[in-house]
Amino acid sequence: MSRDRVRCVECREPLPSDARVCPHCEAVQPSPARRPSASPVAGVFAFVFGVVLALMTIGTTRILGFGLVVVGFGLSVGGYTRHVDRQAERRAR
Ligand SMILES: [Zn+2]
Repeated sequence: MSRDRVRCVECREPLPSDARVCPHCEAVQPSPARRPSASPVAGVFAFVFGVVLALMTIGTTRILGFGLVVVGFGLSVGGYTRHVDRQAERRAR
């Protein structure tokens, strides 16, 4: 059995990693097991760094900067969306 297997906070039974409610005792699990794979903070950092590169440099580095802007924007928006989703889920319960 893998070490990172999730267990119920109430009865300590193993849970599926995406379970929000224990199938054994129906206790609501306080923290979702799944975590965002990419940090919005890293996305913002890449975005800012990309803007600086795109504005301050020319040629290939500038293209790299634009790439970072796109990737960083995607990461920060994606991470933020997941964060909002999780809050909405929590509120719905
Ligand atoms: Zn349980």
